Amino acid sequence: MPLIVQFTAGADHRCASELEALVRSALLNHPFLSITVKLPAHLQVNVAICREQSTAIRFDTYPTHGDVTLTIFEFHLFKIKDGGSVIALDDAPLDDRLINLLFHEFGHFIDARLDASFGYKDSLHPDDPRVKGFVDDLWNASIDGRLKDKAPHTLAERQSDAQEEGGIPADAIARAWEGEWRTYPDLVRVAESLRSTNDQ
Ligand SMILES: [Zn+2]
Repeated sequence: MPLIVQFTAGADHRCASELEALVRSALLNHPFLSITVKLPAHLQVNVAICREQSTAIRFDTYPTHGDVTLTIFEFHLFKIKDGGSVIALDDAPLDDRLINLLFHEFGHFIDARLDASFGYKDSLHPDDPRVKGFVDDLWNASIDGRLKDKAPHTLAERQSDAQEEGGIPADAIARAWEGEWRTYPDLVRVAESLRSTNDQ
């Protein structure tokens, strides 16, 4: 299967080849793949190691262009010791949970583009940025709950992140984690109702 991994930024990074191997491994061994949910015959992953504080998958160019873009915040590559700083990146080893982060990011792509039962459509994106934020928090918890020991975060971490960002109750994050809502339209519906509860 032609799986092309190419760097659009960071090709000369000292960890680029290790990262490339992990990207391949995370896709080829992804726990969301099954008899019915399969990788496409051709897929190109554009990887960018960046200094902006965000790690994310962009899949809106798939399937039209047959590619996805994975942006990785350089800090997320490494296991940072307590009190660690960017300076520690010079010799810090790769985080042994980096593969879990990749499983999570590709989980978004597989849900949205390869698993028809997830019911994702770009047109379902909520216009209200707060509702969109809630959907993302619920989706993150849903992915990590399904990844189980391959998840980058624990339920408690997802709950405190969601609390900080938008104020989703811990209970709703737990229900998403447990798999109560299994489709994108479900997540949007729950996010909208959380938003209207928040307004009251
Ligand atoms: Zn995510």
